[in-house]
Amino acid sequence: MEPTRVAIIGSGLIGCSWAMVFAAGGFKVKLYDIAQQQLTTALESIRKQMKELEESGFLKGTLNAEKQLALISVCTDLKAAVEGATFIQECTPENLELKKKIFSQLDLIVDDNVILSSSTSCLLPSKLFTGLKHVKQCIVSHPVNPPYFVPLVEIVPHPETDPSVTERTYALMKKIGQSPVKLNREIEGFVLNRLQYAVISEAWRLVGEGVISPTDLDIVMSDGLGMRYAFIGPLETMHLNAEGISNYCERYREGMKLVLNTFGPVPEFSGEIEQKISQAMSEKIPAVPKHLGARREWRDDCLVGLAKLKKQM
Ligand code: NAD
Repeated sequence: MEPTRVAIIGSGLIGCSWAMVFAAGGFKVKLYDIAQQQLTTALESIRKQMKELEESGFLKGTLNAEKQLALISVCTDLKAAVEGATFIQECTPENLELKKKIFSQLDLIVDDNVILSSSTSCLLPSKLFTGLKHVKQCIVSHPVNPPYFVPLVEIVPHPETDPSVTERTYALMKKIGQSPVKLNREIEGFVLNRLQYAVISEAWRLVGEGVISPTDLDIVMSDGLGMRYAFIGPLETMHLNAEGISNYCERYREGMKLVLNTFGPVPEFSGEIEQKISQAMSEKIPAVPKHLGARREWRDDCLVGLAKLKKQM
């Protein structure tokens, strides 16, 4: 049987990752970009990553790297790129006007069945899709970097998205081995970034108030909270840390409220505190491509190991 086709619009970091995830799932992938040179670089990068993953035994899917590579082709013609695709994942830069332009171009050439999905990190579906003829087929599927190793996908419908589109997107993400969650309505930052920003703000305030050093603050997460959060979320943590949620609330609600009432205002993320945190982080990892790149590689290796462990559990 002919594999199902998907189109990826934009072949940068996230576009390449989606292409690899879909190819691992056995899908035929058309990768579209505005410049041929960008596509050539993207294909080279995908080839290199797939070979390395195969050598280290971490290649996803049942096909070998060559077969997965053969499923991916590139294209600089938008109409040809989306021809026959049942799912289109947009991965262009985070710019509302640019994305709106791309979706209005797609709106003119797609049929009534294809799903138009955006990787946007923070643009609301109502800003991106309102007014499109095919708005019922539009949805946000927000991945986490790097999607190949961090499987979460936040599925965020537009108020007019057909419920069947949400369900089909959810099922597709499951099929390719990602871990989708559905938001019932759009909200600034979706859920992942709201949680992340809550943590970042309090981290910023604690360092700013001199309660803890930047380095120790990070250890609280990496050797403390983060250890369990890779396996269970904050709500299950409550459930297990007492005799169930109600018992946890009974025991800790007053204490939690007392602490939460001492939280400060939204930080400015600038000035002296920025300098202090920047200096501490740069002492650990100099903010130059060579060192940042090496640390990212180490991070991705850790995520590979963690993904493997989670599979075994
Ligand atoms: P990127 O800059 O690496 O890649 C963008 C690609 O889009 C480039 O290859 C560029 O040539 C191409 N492009 C530019 N204009 C285009 C056009 N008109 N048509 C087609 N392609 C065009 O960006 P990225 O990091 O891959 O991010 C892509 C999207 O994914 C953004 O919306 C971003 O917010 C989201 N996202 C990024 C991350 C992350 O950590 N990088 C995580 C989750 C979601």
